[in-house]
Amino acid sequence: MANQLETLFKLQGLDTLLLEKQKTIEKYEAELAERRQAIAACDARIEALAATRKELVAQRALAERRLSDAMELLKQRRQRLQKVRNERELRAGQEEITSGQTELSEVETLALELMAKVEEMESVIEVARKERADLESADHRHVSDAAERVQTLRRELESDRGTRDGMAEQVEAGLRKKYELILSRRSGLAVVEVDGAGCCVGCHVQIPPQTLIEVRKTGAVRVCPMCQRLLFIGGIEVDAVSL
Ligand SMILES: [Zn+2]
Repeated sequence: MANQLETLFKLQGLDTLLLEKQKTIEKYEAELAERRQAIAACDARIEALAATRKELVAQRALAERRLSDAMELLKQRRQRLQKVRNERELRAGQEEITSGQTELSEVETLALELMAKVEEMESVIEVARKERADLESADHRHVSDAAERVQTLRRELESDRGTRDGMAEQVEAGLRKKYELILSRRSGLAVVEVDGAGCCVGCHVQIPPQTLIEVRKTGAVRVCPMCQRLLFIGGIEVDAVSL
């Protein structure tokens, strides 16, 4: 039994290592997912900006058409003014020109505003594209580093698991189950050493002398009365075990 506990103690060391590696892999993968999300968010923003730009360009084209129409109309009205035959026609023609000038000036202002808006939108898009490119290149560096690390860890995990399972097989099934149950309930610490003062290393409670004697002399499986972890005393003499 002493050997069994010693094996369990070693197994616990391996299990701790495996868990750490697994957590590291998960952390890397979470980071990668986060970066992919950031890039996707950037893409969505650029797409929305591009749609706004497209709409503004259409409005600008419309304003430019209205501007050229207004200029043409004013030109025609000026030509008509040359051919007036009386005072009434002259006044009417002048009024037409005044209103045409007002219209032209309004459309001109609108067209200029839209031109400015398109330009502004283009510079906003350029900044967003630059941000995305930076994100992408940082991501490339990160991805290749992380991918390499994750790959190494996965390889290590695989060979560690083989060692772990081989070791676990040396432990009697009932005891192994007990170990695994305590391990899952006691945050990765199922087998604890008893220190020089006879205390449980897991929770620091004093272990009753009788229990200590049993463990030390026969390698019996005993649990800490406080935290219920399996007690292990390192360096038990073979002679003592056989007593
Ligand atoms: Zn304890």
